Order: sequence, then structure tokens, then C-alpha cells
Amino acid sequence: MFDEDGTLRRLTEMPADDRERILRLTALVGEPCDACYIEHGDAEIEQCDVGAIVYGEPMGEVLLCDAHEGDFLYWFREEGGEELAGTRELANAFQAWFDEGNRAPAGYGGLDHVEEAPDQLPAFDPHEIQGLEDDLQEMDDTEREALDVDLSDLDLDVDL
Ligand SMILES: [Zn+2]
Repeated sequence: MFDEDGTLRRLTEMPADDRERILRLTALVGEPCDACYIEHGDAEIEQCDVGAIVYGEPMGEVLLCDAHEGDFLYWFREEGGEELAGTRELANAFQAWFDEGNRAPAGYGGLDHVEEAPDQLPAFDPHEIQGLEDDLQEMDDTEREALDVDLSDLDLDVDL
């Protein structure tokens, strides 16, 4: 989804799957980390770190802060999460595991970086695409319709 010079293509030039992914990621910018949210909830929303890393498929993403990435990677690699790669169940399954009080062992994955994640586990840094929100604002209705994406689906939905 990047031009040869490394800049993001305009949304209307992207294949539909890429557009959906980008739009979802744009919607996730500034949202709390899923794991923090499970720990603190709306009542202590200010305790949550903003999600910095996204794993998973459109509509089934896991949004994580740096501190919780290790818990996700541990679950993915050691607790069967890998079997759900490429499915929208990935996020709910991880959230359920985390909500039950499961965590990665102390120190696990703390130094792992996104690039080392398995190929089948797409990961993005939402900070890289914040400019897309401006793109969306600048589009007129016709252009937005051409995107053929249901913007009402874009809210982060965390089942608790
Ligand atoms: Zn977190």
C-alpha cells in the first residue's frame, strides 16, 4: 500500500482490502490499548496507554501499547493464538485470555520488535498513518462514496 517513494497512496487508488485496513487503522489512532482497557475500563480510561501497535485483520484487530505487546506475542506463540491468524476471532480470543488474568511470564518478549513477528501476523504502527485522517477530511462526499467502505463500522469494539 506504499508508493515506490515510500509515501502512502491516496485512499482511492488502493485496492479495497488495503483501503479497509487503512481506514480501520485510522479509526484506531488514539484509541486505548485493548489490554489496558480490559484492566481499567471506562471508569479509569485515563490509566490506559494509547495503542501503538496493531495486530490482526480488519474488524478483528488487537490494539496494544508497548507494555502489553509481550502479552499478546506470548499468547500468539505459546497459547494457541497462532491458529487464529488471519481470522477475526483473533482479537476476541486474546482479549478473553487476557481478561481471565493470563499474562506473559515476566520479561517475555520485552525486546521483541514488530519486524520479528511472524509473516502471517500483519502489524502496523498507527502513528505512521495519522495523515490519512486529514486525507479523509479533505475528500468530498463523492470521493468518500467511491471508497465503498462503511464508515459506521469503524468504531473500536471491545467486548468485555
Ligand atoms: Zn496496554
